[in-house]
Amino acid sequence: MCSFTVETRSLGKYDVIIAGGGIAGVFAAASAAEEGAKVLLAESGGCLGGTLTSGAVPSIMDGSGKGGYLKKLFDFLNERGMSVARFGKKVDESGRKIPGRIVDIEGCKVFFDRLMRDSGVRVLFYTRVAAAKLGESGGKRYLKRVLLSTEAGNYEASAEVFIDATGNGALSALSGCRFESGEPGTGRMSPASTEYSVTGLPEDYDGTDSGAEKRAYSDMLKANGIEISAEEAGIVRLPALKEWDVSSDYQYDVCPSDILSLTDAVMNSREEVFETVERHKKIPGYEGIWLMHTADHLGIREGRRVFGEYRITEGDMIQGRHFPDGICLVRSKVDLHKIHPGDTLNASRGIRTQPYEIPYRALIASDVSNLLLAGRCLSGDFYPHASYRMMGNMAATGEAAGFAAAYAVKMKTALTLVPYALLRERMKEYL
Ligand SMILES: Cc1cc2nc3c(=O)[nH]c(=O)nc-3n(C[C@H](O)[C@H](O)[C@H](O)COP(=O)(O)OP(=O)(O)OC[C@H]3O[C@@H](n4cnc5c(N)ncnc54)[C@H](O)[C@@H]3O)c2cc1C
Repeated sequence: MCSFTVETRSLGKYDVIIAGGGIAGVFAAASAAEEGAKVLLAESGGCLGGTLTSGAVPSIMDGSGKGGYLKKLFDFLNERGMSVARFGKKVDESGRKIPGRIVDIEGCKVFFDRLMRDSGVRVLFYTRVAAAKLGESGGKRYLKRVLLSTEAGNYEASAEVFIDATGNGALSALSGCRFESGEPGTGRMSPASTEYSVTGLPEDYDGTDSGAEKRAYSDMLKANGIEISAEEAGIVRLPALKEWDVSSDYQYDVCPSDILSLTDAVMNSREEVFETVERHKKIPGYEGIWLMHTADHLGIREGRRVFGEYRITEGDMIQGRHFPDGICLVRSKVDLHKIHPGDTLNASRGIRTQPYEIPYRALIASDVSNLLLAGRCLSGDFYPHASYRMMGNMAATGEAAGFAAAYAVKMKTALTLVPYALLRERMKEYL
């Protein structure tokens, strides 16, 4: 361990600082600003949306029937023909697109930019939250300020409330919060994947809808000498209609907190994708296939699950539990991808879930009094994480965290004392 003296410039004081601008972070920022908070959002990449945009994952699951900023996003996209149905027909008899959960990534990026500008949120791109300074009050630690490492040098900023929306729980780890990751007992994580888009598939090819279609497609690749590392290839037709999104590789045991393992996985993944498409061109009927784009970010399904005031358990899913502080109804089932190459268990692991709620307490970090968790680093066990991590739910956790943070600042109260009834009222369109 060695320490450096780093010169920093001050960005001043905010009500709420949010680390990470994925779907959870952006909605947290918008919702906090809507409640009157002065908000800073630091994003290490060059666009907002996280896995949805930089990770090129165009399918927003468990968002159907939900409202809030998620509905505003869908409205924006639908008006512009920038979403299409996942299953079945993509256009109706008059040639109009049938809107659905497959979304246009560039449309999402612009929606998020406009939302931030209209909300008055100070966004910083190419800015990584790199260190945390803590204090102690009443026997509990609290976050005072963060170090922001940017393209333009180092800055520091302070806030009343911080929100960790980094996906992997980076700010929580920097603040010394306890966390878990991976399968209990083995620590094995869900695989990481590089999503990519191709063009040049047969004009009428609508993608692999059902599990049977995915397996048939993967078998066809295999019969032509193409071995993919994922259990099956998932292909969806994108709103442009002449472009398809593909997911076909698994990188195992990628630890997002180990930069060597992460970098190797990025290169291995990109190599596999490139070779898969190159060989695909040799299959009769597919000569025109062309690799358009690989995701800028390796898709990490699972990172740190930070300890909160409540941990969502397997029992909560099985019983379909509701809570007095419930902020979002989760309908998605457990969808665990193979966690090692020999894994033959099914995606649900035999767990039969009923719709259950995410309680606000799962967003309050238990070890740092003014830190909220939004998005996939929230407090839950391994199997629940494989269910609630869908973007429709992660959007809700952001919106709830932003509201709670702004309320706590406005009312000068602790995060644990934000009234549940108010939160539920604010989040009713997600319940
Ligand atoms: C391959 C793959 C396929 C998936 N398929 C689907 C699907 O089909 N449908 C679905 O609904 N969900 C899917 N998911 C899950 C879903 O995409 C994620 O759970 C969800 O997008 C997580 O959102 P988030 O905002 O919590 O985090 P993220 O999207 O991970 O965003 C975190 C953001 O924080 C930034 N960041 C990280 N560290 C720092 C730091 N220190 N400082 C500043 N910024 C930082 C990152 O750059 C990123 O922009 C998939 C996930 C993966 C990986």
